[in-house]
Amino acid sequence: MKLHFFGTGASEGVPAVFCECEYCKKIRTLGGKNIRLRTSVQLDDHILIDFSSDGYAQSLFRGMDTTNITHILITHSHEDHFYPVDLLRAAPPYGLNRTIPLHIYGNSTVTDKLNQSVGDILSLENTEKYLAFHTLSAYKTYELDGYKVTPLPASHDPRECCYIYVIEHNGKTLLYGHDSAFFSEAVWEFLGDFHFDCVVLDCTMVDHTGIFEGHMGLPDNILVRKRMLDNNIATEQTLFILTHFYHYFNPLHERITPLFQEKGFIAAYDGMDLSF
Ligand SMILES: [Zn+2]
Ligand SMILES: [Zn+2]
Ligand SMILES: [Zn+2]
Repeated sequence: MKLHFFGTGASEGVPAVFCECEYCKKIRTLGGKNIRLRTSVQLDDHILIDFSSDGYAQSLFRGMDTTNITHILITHSHEDHFYPVDLLRAAPPYGLNRTIPLHIYGNSTVTDKLNQSVGDILSLENTEKYLAFHTLSAYKTYELDGYKVTPLPASHDPRECCYIYVIEHNGKTLLYGHDSAFFSEAVWEFLGDFHFDCVVLDCTMVDHTGIFEGHMGLPDNILVRKRMLDNNIATEQTLFILTHFYHYFNPLHERITPLFQEKGFIAAYDGMDLSF
């Protein structure tokens, strides 16, 4: 599997839009790998995980080829992961000449919001030729273009069933694990049946912990990795990737890369490619 990270910032982006903190000021000057848009990751050629309000800019300036995308998995309805209005532009009068529908998968909050937005910006005729919405249930495995996808409940926002995803393809297994705090015991029990080649984790709090509910930081990521190694569901060869960084915990690429590496993690940045 190949992953490409289009966005590695938390909900506000890095630098945060109106922020004048010391880190945002520094990051505006430094640019490069320190600039972090909102979350979206491409899996191989045709699948995206999450599509935020930065999706359009990512398609213009960061190489996201939306014409090639046929399946989009949404983790949850927070706006840094899900921007329904632009997703609906796959249908006319905005998206013309597309020959296959764009399939969008998520929890019931996500598909409810998509259905509500259809009435706002599209005529209801023929929408299904261009857009297909799929409400997924936790712990159920779905076949999606040769990929086996299982949504699991994240520990994130009790107002909806936010998902993390187990994705299996060609003998490889990915855990796409954010946004989430430390996983519930029910999720740990389910994960016990897998061997993961790659694990992507929430590192909103960078090297802090216990500040934001529903998220993790490096100390929590270390506990997740240890438990996965102890339970033989990951090995030293498993890639552990940290992403979704909050601006005020100093997520400078040069600072966090060695810090995370020492603990067995890779610090994601916008534009990072991985294969496993
Ligand atoms: Zn988020
Ligand atoms: Zn800031
Ligand atoms: Zn969220």
